[in-house]
Amino acid sequence: MAGNGALSAWAKGIRIVLCHLLDWIFACFAPIFRRCVADTFAARFIAAPSFFCRATVRTFHAIALTDLLAEIRACRACEHALPLGPRPVLQASGTARLLIVGQAPGAKVHASGVPWDDASGERLREWLGIDTTTFYDARRVAIVPMGFCYPGRGGGGDNPPRAECAPLWHTRLLDQLTNVRLTLLVGQYAQRYFLGARRKPSLTETVQAWREYAPDYVPLPHPSPRNQPWFKRHAWFEAEVLPALRRHVTELFADTENAAPIDMTWDNAQENAQMTKPPITIQRVYEPLPEAGAACFLVDRLWPRGIRKETLAHVTWAKDVAPSTALRQWFHAHEHDPAHWDEFRERYLAELAANRVAWEPIVRARETRPVVLLYGSHDTARNHAVVLQAFLKRERQ
Ligand code: SF4
Repeated sequence: MAGNGALSAWAKGIRIVLCHLLDWIFACFAPIFRRCVADTFAARFIAAPSFFCRATVRTFHAIALTDLLAEIRACRACEHALPLGPRPVLQASGTARLLIVGQAPGAKVHASGVPWDDASGERLREWLGIDTTTFYDARRVAIVPMGFCYPGRGGGGDNPPRAECAPLWHTRLLDQLTNVRLTLLVGQYAQRYFLGARRKPSLTETVQAWREYAPDYVPLPHPSPRNQPWFKRHAWFEAEVLPALRRHVTELFADTENAAPIDMTWDNAQENAQMTKPPITIQRVYEPLPEAGAACFLVDRLWPRGIRKETLAHVTWAKDVAPSTALRQWFHAHEHDPAHWDEFRERYLAELAANRVAWEPIVRARETRPVVLLYGSHDTARNHAVVLQAFLKRERQ
């Protein structure tokens, strides 16, 4: 038996070496062949072995990955520290283009063995704009947390991922995921591990600087319901980061047969153009008004309660840019139902698209100085100013 084990370890070692060797040969010589003999008879002659070479590489990769996943599933490295015992929960395939690196499974995920099978997962899928079928298709999405097993609970919630897990497995596993083109770093542990010194002092600043890490990485906060106050405080995340992320992911899966790198400058060009313009920000009208120099617009249809006209003497009241009375009343009638936010946003964007004359003065003001949009709503995350700000940022003149 011991002899068989040694033989199988040798066979596995040889397979992995061969796999890397073929990969290297193909990577080095295929572009040279293509350049030298393009559109000639020889190109067709070479195509057959080239296809064979690629198919062989893929087969070796698949075998190596299957072996590695089996090894991970049998891992007992930190068994002593796991209250419910080891149960690595992950999903991976060599063809996956999207890699999600989260923290560690919670108790519910440990019980089901299905990654992100909880309220956080639902929100994450909503952020990405993909359904469960796509999310759990390992050929497209790899899910590799920082710790593969449930680490138990401490005083303030679930414990951090086990520190020994990522150094033990990540390099070997990620080496096999050769088609990944976008990695989502969900939470501070993944950001610390993958971004190192490029990470900002806080998670909020790191997420806010997401463009610096694209196209390879997008840092995200954890989608846990416990982070609801964070989402409310940082409305820019929903208004700016999520629409861009959804576009990325849609493009990523749009041409699954085409292996050419996606043009990830999609947003950078647009965003760079925006960055050269003065900023456009929003704030409650009840907060101290900005210093002189900014163009301030009150964007509510109704005058804010308790505010004297003199207080806003230098503010332009752009009431026609606000949602129509019918839409405002509909929104307030349903404001406690989060499902209506998306519908409100869609309807308000349609109104804005048809009402250029209302927002054009704001765009013109922004050509020369920063713009501040003032609103009265108590809800700083879900209000029409958030939608208007995103709309105006995207508007190209
Ligand atoms: S958490 Fe990671 S290192 Fe620990 S037992 Fe699970 S797979 Fe092994």
